[in-house]
Amino acid sequence: MEAGQIFTRVFRQMRPRTPLPDVRVQFRRYANANAQAKLENGALLIRMADTLAGAPDPVIEALAEILLSKLFRRPVPASSNDRYRRYLNRRDVRNSLDLVRQIRGRKRVEHPQGHTYNLDEMFEDLNFRYFHGLMARPVLGWSPNASRTLLGHYDPPHNAIVLSRILDRAQTPRLAVEYVLFHEMLHLRHPAEHNGARRCVHTRAFKEAEKQFEHLREAKAMLRRL
Ligand SMILES: [Zn+2]
Repeated sequence: MEAGQIFTRVFRQMRPRTPLPDVRVQFRRYANANAQAKLENGALLIRMADTLAGAPDPVIEALAEILLSKLFRRPVPASSNDRYRRYLNRRDVRNSLDLVRQIRGRKRVEHPQGHTYNLDEMFEDLNFRYFHGLMARPVLGWSPNASRTLLGHYDPPHNAIVLSRILDRAQTPRLAVEYVLFHEMLHLRHPAEHNGARRCVHTRAFKEAEKQFEHLREAKAMLRRL
């Protein structure tokens, strides 16, 4: 069955009295298995990664239940979530998604050994001091550009932490760089929470954990003077 027919059927089940909208499914070349649904000018617009085009009907149906539940602000049925997740976790699906990600989502990250600081070493040191050495090392690297506004970020699909090249200078104190890396490591440890339509990246647990950083105030003050 076509994806559009499956979405139409699920829509009718969820909203039996609402007139059926035009359902349009677009496959996009995303770097991961993304999908969204929105109502626009009376049409139901579904955008999903072309990597999902070959998914079996029950998986597309589960995805339709997930996306339409979110659209109508209803709880997502656990069975749909489960079915969809199991599919994405299948080894063959994971392998092909990894491949697509590597080809399409090529990240511009430079070697962890910078001019001044080595991120691999710094990671291991922070890992030992704050995480009992138990955190698996993600991909670490310096950004090619020296951004002042985005000092660091953690990118879950690539499992990468990237720090701005502006931190890799002799005049930037080590403590400041350590703090930015520590903050990003906490993102790895405390994933974003989804609260209905809201997404919280700095959860309460995250903020509590951040307070463990020694000389936190000093580090933050250094960053303001960059
Ligand atoms: Zn953050």
